[in-house]
Amino acid sequence: MRFSGKNVLVTGASRGIGAAIAKRLAAYGLKVWINYRSNAELADKLKAEIEQNGGEAAVIGFDVSNEKAFVEGIKTIVDSDGELSYLVNNAGITKDKLAMRMSVEDFEEVLRANLTSAFIGCREAIKVMGKKRFGSVVNIASIVGETGNAGQVNYSASKGGMIAMTKSFAQEGAARNIRFNAITPGFIATDMTETLKDEIKDAYIAKIPLKRFGNPDEVAKTVAFLLSDGAGYITGETIKVNGGMYM
Ligand code: NAP
Repeated sequence: MRFSGKNVLVTGASRGIGAAIAKRLAAYGLKVWINYRSNAELADKLKAEIEQNGGEAAVIGFDVSNEKAFVEGIKTIVDSDGELSYLVNNAGITKDKLAMRMSVEDFEEVLRANLTSAFIGCREAIKVMGKKRFGSVVNIASIVGETGNAGQVNYSASKGGMIAMTKSFAQEGAARNIRFNAITPGFIATDMTETLKDEIKDAYIAKIPLKRFGNPDEVAKTVAFLLSDGAGYITGETIKVNGGMYM
């Protein structure tokens, strides 16, 4: 896979899909900035693993829902490397509840962590990548941003917003040669889905044509493609990685 850019920031990369994305992009030769929120040890472990495999990585801790911290994080990267070529807005949380029991605080917390954070990242990407007239951003949305899901009014709103926002950023970024795309994973085996009860997992698997949850590297490979030169004419697109669960 060919990449004209040099480095990438992956948010929420200490574990799960983000960690798989970091490993995959490092294996393709990019310097990976591993962002984490609370678990520095995991992030350091991932950096060591990437380096053992001959890749290049750096760790940068900040909370993506904190505007000042995110902006400063990107500045640190640009001060260090002279540029930021690629960004993957992957960090995300859930706070599931039926809507009738959901407080505005529960709703807004998820919107801020998932959608506002991605807005901050995309906005800063336009500024920083615009200077070099080159860049590519992938936003990790979700199947439930396309289908909705009972118990996830907040999460689905954040992910649906992410899909629409990606298209708007794609239109604003095109003149500066910055591409913006989204991925909508279905059910992927990570800590986020590990909390589901077995009977709920089985019910979901029954609805997935490929009859299994995806693995994080299957999302990571799609991220790599969208960032790569091979996807140079793709922008504003949403790619489903869901085993056929929603077509
Ligand atoms: P995960 O296992 O729960 O990991 C989430 C990662 O995001 C962790 O590294 C976490 O760091 C980080 N994070 C959360 N809030 C953050 C914040 N405010 N600032 C910085 N980092 C933060 O989740 P996952 O399953 O890998 O999901 C990754 C992304 O894919 C999410 O956006 C999720 O919505 C999306 N997705 C997942 C699935 C799935 O089935 N797993 C399906 C569709 C979409 P800490 O360790 O500090 O909490």
